[in-house]
Amino acid sequence: MLRTHDIEINKKYFDERGMEELIGIIKHELCHYHLHLEKRGYQHRDADFRQLLKLVGGPRFCTPLEESAKNKSKKLCRYQCKKCGHLYTRKKRINTDRYVCGKCKGKLILLQEVLIK
Ligand SMILES: [Zn+2]
Ligand SMILES: [Zn+2]
Repeated sequence: MLRTHDIEINKKYFDERGMEELIGIIKHELCHYHLHLEKRGYQHRDADFRQLLKLVGGPRFCTPLEESAKNKSKKLCRYQCKKCGHLYTRKKRINTDRYVCGKCKGKLILLQEVLIK
């Protein structure tokens, strides 16, 4: 976190990637912080950052695990109209007080939430 210069490490990294990659992640984060504190280019696209990262041998990108985990599981909500029984699938939960059936204006009820991996 750039504001506090704390490093948060998810134990998942260690479990899934092992010690070597974990050290790489810490190196990468420290490069961000070091340059940020020195008011130099601390972002991925900055030359300062890329040079320092090369020097310490860290990976080019940070937190790939969380990003891929996010993309892996998507949630779908299934709704059914109480009146005509028409089924709807939405990517997010909807407010059933505000949204009604597009066909008959009947009330929608949440049937289930499905996790897709
Ligand atoms: Zn980074
Ligand atoms: Zn309906």
